[in-house]
Amino acid sequence: MSKRRKILRDLAIQRMDYLYKLAYRRVKQGDYRLARRYIEILLRISQRTRIRPPRYIRRGYCRRCCIPLIPGVTSRVRIQSEGRGSRVVVTCLLCGWKRRYMIKTGRRK
Ligand SMILES: [Zn+2]
Repeated sequence: MSKRRKILRDLAIQRMDYLYKLAYRRVKQGDYRLARRYIEILLRISQRTRIRPPRYIRRGYCRRCCIPLIPGVTSRVRIQSEGRGSRVVVTCLLCGWKRRYMIKTGRRK
């Protein structure tokens, strides 16, 4: 990665982090409309710069309705055990969208 690209990435991530925090706060205040707006701006930064948001952001909003997912507020989190691994099922309480992902147990790649 070039130096210029690195700086761009740092900037983009800083902005996305900031916007995510704002969005999160808005949800807690009950302003879902503005919270979605911040997520949309965040995603636009990601698209324009072609830089992926950090993982906690990628997993922290609803892909369908763009609301930040806060357990107990806008999302429900369930853990399913399945064989060797466990998976987390996150449900958006506003639109019903579900996301499943594995919890890595043991060694990391
Ligand atoms: Zn949703």
